[in-house]
Amino acid sequence: MTTIAFVGLGIMGSPMAQHLARAGHDVVGFDATPEKAKPLIDAGGRAADSGPQAVRGAEVVALMLPDSPDVTDVLTGSDGVFAHAAPGALVIDFSTIRPDVAAGLAAEAAAAGLRMIDAPVSGGQAGAENAALSIMVGGADVDVAAARPLLDVVGTTVVHVGPHGAGQTVKAANQLIVAGNIALLAEALLFLEAHGADLPAAVEVLGGGLAGSAVLNQKAQKMLDGDFAPGFRIDLHHKDMGIVMSAAREAGVATPVGGLVAQLVGATRAAGDGGLDHSALHRTIARLSGR
Ligand code: NAD
Repeated sequence: MTTIAFVGLGIMGSPMAQHLARAGHDVVGFDATPEKAKPLIDAGGRAADSGPQAVRGAEVVALMLPDSPDVTDVLTGSDGVFAHAAPGALVIDFSTIRPDVAAGLAAEAAAAGLRMIDAPVSGGQAGAENAALSIMVGGADVDVAAARPLLDVVGTTVVHVGPHGAGQTVKAANQLIVAGNIALLAEALLFLEAHGADLPAAVEVLGGGLAGSAVLNQKAQKMLDGDFAPGFRIDLHHKDMGIVMSAAREAGVATPVGGLVAQLVGATRAAGDGGLDHSALHRTIARLSGR
């Protein structure tokens, strides 16, 4: 049994923390919104009143927070993890943040006598709830090996992809692919609708061919139903496209399609849909089509 402080009990963090508690670990959760700890308590975990209270005495500190500034604050603030964690504790950051920030924080963790890996995830809310996430891990071999039994509790595809920050680089590529897929799925469904096609039949046959994908399986029905409850919020995908665009520019890689999709995600947010699921790109394509 490992004592795990879990900070960030939102759409993803809550089910992940619950799986770890049900696997027999002592999970102490903390979220800025205290009532979000309730499902973890029901699953056998505990709730802390503050970050420092959660972190003190923990062997592992897991984070599942929105963005780079949130992770930086929680780790480096005066009330933060680096100031309060036990020497040698292992920080596992599941959040999606900038690769350069992840690498910098890992160096700061080492200076504070702690260990850190980046372990961003893919698979969405369903993947978190079903403990079937794909986890892209960056960090030192020894730390990844130490974390692996815990990562295997929440994920089914756990791959060590390189040094600190490398997990975030792979996650950025994941977000580029997913955003492009969603945008084209939305265009295809509106195209089919405009032609009066039988949409469920079309989705069924598309799913069996080369156009089939996890995006089609998880998002087509939401688009057909007009059900854009998150899921993965447009605001978060906007953040991720920002990470992709700046990392691509730094590397001198052209991302013309990604740039266009980033604009569509930004326009969806500007239209007031930032709190909706990223499948709400469908609403933007519909507006552009006058539908
Ligand atoms: P969310 O907004 O549902 O959860 C984030 C939680 O962090 C919230 O409950 C919030 O109250 C809490 N929080 C924020 N700042 C805090 C602080 N300083 N201290 C304590 N708690 C704090 O977001 P989410 O959808 O769970 O996403 C979390 C991360 O996972 C993001 O980086 C996102 O990009 C990534 N992600 C999300 C999905 C998805 O499908 N939702 C999939 C893969 C990766």
